[in-house]
Amino acid sequence: MTELLLVRYGEIFLKGLNRPYFIRALVRKVRYAVRGLGAEVWVHDGRIFVRGFSDLEECISRVTKVFGVHSVCPAVEMPKEDFDSICVQAVEMTRDLKGTFKVNARRSDKQYPMNSPAINEEAGFRILQANPNLKVDVHDPEHVVNIEIRDMAYLYVKVIPAVGGMPVGTNGNAALLLSGGIDSPVAGWMIAKRGVQICAVHFHSYPYTSDRAKEKVLDLARKLSFSCCGIKVFVVPFTEIQMVIHEKCPEEYTTLIMRRYMMRIAERIAREQECEALITGESIGQVASQTMTALGTTDSVTKMPVFRPLIGFDKSEIISIARKIGTLEISELPYEDCCTVFTPRHPATHPKMEKILEGEAKLDTEDLIAKAMKGVEMIRV
Ligand code: ATP
Ligand code: MG
Repeated sequence: MTELLLVRYGEIFLKGLNRPYFIRALVRKVRYAVRGLGAEVWVHDGRIFVRGFSDLEECISRVTKVFGVHSVCPAVEMPKEDFDSICVQAVEMTRDLKGTFKVNARRSDKQYPMNSPAINEEAGFRILQANPNLKVDVHDPEHVVNIEIRDMAYLYVKVIPAVGGMPVGTNGNAALLLSGGIDSPVAGWMIAKRGVQICAVHFHSYPYTSDRAKEKVLDLARKLSFSCCGIKVFVVPFTEIQMVIHEKCPEEYTTLIMRRYMMRIAERIAREQECEALITGESIGQVASQTMTALGTTDSVTKMPVFRPLIGFDKSEIISIARKIGTLEISELPYEDCCTVFTPRHPATHPKMEKILEGEAKLDTEDLIAKAMKGVEMIRV
């Protein structure tokens, strides 16, 4: 008898002929997630199994975070020939359950001496006999005892929900503008969940922002990395650009102009990393730089699509996702962000493009960007 994890995938089911490609991608991600646990991951009959792990709880905790995994079931694999042992195992797995149940037998081995209704009946009877707290309900049971007869017999009862989505990398690459705030990690998580491999670009204004502020952003990226299976973080030195903007541009436009520089630099990094889109954590009206007019002025510096998955979300909705994915407590640490250090007193909510261009004309954009690009540091988390 062997303990293993059956890994169930959701939306990949919809992928007709491409399904093997998505399954292979998911297997690679699950392997990455369980590395160090001594586990083996393999596909059999279109199903993914994990076996040989040293720590079941840790294995479950890691696998349920992998995008593309819909649920996991702790299962037992055993020889199928001795049906009595299978019943003993089914009784063992239901010993602590209460309420209603049914047995759901499936057999792909059509030579097996018992058919599915016979397995259901016999195993159900044995379970009922052993556990007076259970009743049968074949229509809407609280527990389903799955018995699958394949090359071996597989039994599982518990279904642990996982994160869902698509395996990262199956839908291309995008670059996330990652600040230390609450929103941008959530935005990155949402797009990555759709199978997009993300890299993160962070603008750092040392010494106005501290090393601890940078560490905080790396910690956020590490959290995302559990589901994304590794992320590259590009830290861009932004102090000089901010100083020059601050010095030469109209105060109410500094945030927007700064944002436009972030987009330009992020786009360059994104192209080098073969990304097809940028991602930000903006939502309409959250702050002055996120009015529709303001968002339009930041979009216009890039030819790449800019994805803003939080655009219609309230802050409270964003916070609840941040809590669920484990980034909230890091985001709430008090270290300053480069945007907050140089915030104007009265930012323009209806910015005029001529004013922005007039301000930017005083800056040597190409030179500033080239210098910032030279100082980019790449950290893998
Ligand atoms: P959050 O910082 O979590 O996004 P916020 O409300 O503070 O929330 P802003 O500071 O207005 O948002 O920033 C808007 C978006 O610009 C962020 O969601 C992020 O994508 C990007 N951004 C802001 N500051 C930085 C930074 N220092 N590095 C990288 N991207 C940034
Ligand atoms: Mg922010």
